[in-house]
Amino acid sequence: MPELPEVETLRRGLEKESVGRRILSVVIANPKVLKGQSEVEFRDRAVGKCIVGVSRRGKYLFLPLAVDSFSSPSFTLCLHLNMRGALRLKTDEEPLGRYGVLRLGLDEGKSLHFDDIWGWGECRIAVAGESLPELGEEPLGPSWDRREFARRLSTRRVAIKTVLLDQKIVAGVGNIYADEALFRAQLAPTRAAAALTESECERLAESIWQTLTEAVAQGGTRGDYVDLYGQVGSYIPQVYDREGAACPRCTAPLKKIKLGGRGTTFCPVCQN
Ligand SMILES: [Zn+2]
Repeated sequence: MPELPEVETLRRGLEKESVGRRILSVVIANPKVLKGQSEVEFRDRAVGKCIVGVSRRGKYLFLPLAVDSFSSPSFTLCLHLNMRGALRLKTDEEPLGRYGVLRLGLDEGKSLHFDDIWGWGECRIAVAGESLPELGEEPLGPSWDRREFARRLSTRRVAIKTVLLDQKIVAGVGNIYADEALFRAQLAPTRAAAALTESECERLAESIWQTLTEAVAQGGTRGDYVDLYGQVGSYIPQVYDREGAACPRCTAPLKKIKLGGRGTTFCPVCQN
């Protein structure tokens, strides 16, 4: 599942390739991704509009749409890849592939393909200013408040790993980077969030920031996820999905357990 670094990699690609482009056509192969919006309304709001920016919040991408590059946006294209969605930049001749759900034909011979093997992703166009999904603090944003993060943790009695996956607490952290950040902070994923001390919360906040920043710099985690151009990322997790491998810090074998229904890998020796 694409997490913050993978979506940020996409945002950077989109900023370069789509800002200033006009949407000329829309092909919808699977209306499920419109999340209830009618095809007619989607088309009406999209066709003829100019993409005037790209922002990201957690795992969401927002593309403001305006009549031209100098006007204020009237709509916002909201994208979420969910488990298996992918965005690819193609030429305008290329038809949608086998798992293609939506295609935006842009000017200058480009097109944006939304592929989604399960069709769980989201692609809809909201009126600009309409309230967007409720999300927690954005850990790479300039306003990330570590004290507020610590305060939110102190109210939760469940395992810290489970709390990190709650998008209302930290937007954009999923299974990979939750395991990685906890390893970096040397905290056991099973600890109750509320039991963390102030300095542990501070260490965790710093670890989340460092882990995400490193992963963004490397274009996301190496795996089956690809960027706008079909390239894979180069971040290699230290513990995530490495059950039985030697801990990179103390060489003890890494252990995998289930927490809140999610596979969780950690070092039982140096994460306390
Ligand atoms: Zn260890």
